[in-house]
Amino acid sequence: MGEWLRGDILAGEIKEEVGREVEKLWEKTGRVPGLVGILIGENPSSKIYLNIKSRECDKLKIMSEIKKFPADVKENEVMEEIKRLNENDNVDGILVQLPIPPHLDPLRIIELISPEKDVDGFHPVNLGNLILGREGLRACTPSGIMELLKRNSIPIKGKRAVVVGRSFIVGKPMGIMLLNEDATVTYCHSKTENLSEVTSSADILIVAMGKPCFIKEKFVKEGAVVVDVGVNSITSKEDLLSLYGEDYKKIKDIEEKGSTLVGDVHPEVINKASYLTPVPGGVGPLTVAFLLKNTLKAFKMRRRIFD
Ligand code: NDP
Repeated sequence: MGEWLRGDILAGEIKEEVGREVEKLWEKTGRVPGLVGILIGENPSSKIYLNIKSRECDKLKIMSEIKKFPADVKENEVMEEIKRLNENDNVDGILVQLPIPPHLDPLRIIELISPEKDVDGFHPVNLGNLILGREGLRACTPSGIMELLKRNSIPIKGKRAVVVGRSFIVGKPMGIMLLNEDATVTYCHSKTENLSEVTSSADILIVAMGKPCFIKEKFVKEGAVVVDVGVNSITSKEDLLSLYGEDYKKIKDIEEKGSTLVGDVHPEVINKASYLTPVPGGVGPLTVAFLLKNTLKAFKMRRRIFD
């Protein structure tokens, strides 16, 4: 039986490190980093995620603000706001909480954010810098996963890594980061043939599909390190039982809160893997910690503060 690879513990350590540095920078410069999140529409998960980000900023004395727009906002109104934020010297980080309503093009909007304030690391300049192995702001979720692997001394160099999912948010930058650390990387997606054959060749398997409990034991090599990025909300006890199995805590979540979270990886995989990240408590907290770290990094890069 493998070990649970807890992202929440590492996220706590990273936030402490960021908090200490923010404190020092405040003493040195009289300024603190500032982050603005843009929320478009009424997506309840987006609201929750942005509120969590904002609350975590408060704890570390990072200034934060949420700019809200109605679901039917015109693209140029959002773009005007981004231009104003780009020019505001007190704002170091700008993020657009995805998904956004379908009449808006996320890439066109993200492209307008100044690359030096693009704390999500989704701007083409930052994605290009990642591919070229140059300095820049990196996507938070894959950055968090890389840190989790490194701080747990999980070897990457020369290892076979398989990434399931190819979004620009997780899958694509994840594969490039692993490649930049000398892993041999394979991407899988919805058109991949014989998925289990490919995934079961992985020493490191990263799963970002958005399909609850899809990856079962037969998809995994004995002793593999498995990172479950998926966050799927389950609202019925029957679905939970058929997908995940019996779990007292998750049943209680459904009874009390109306839903519970499961990953893309079935928990039975812990029997075969050497490590598996839990959901919740795995990758999610690291994503938030890396957003805070990126906001600090953007602040330092913009003010030419070097360690
Ligand atoms: P997307 O929906 O953008 O991408 C999903 C990817 O999975 C696509 O590339 C898709 O392939 C692939 N896929 C879907 N079905 C299959 C299948 N049957 N076999 C193989 N590949 C498949 O999702 P995201 O990348 O944005 O997110 C993925 C998951 O990670 C979601 O659950 C999301 O909530 C979660 N997430 C969690 C974060 C965290 O902090 N923990 C942060 C960001 C996301 P194709 O390209 O061919 O369609």
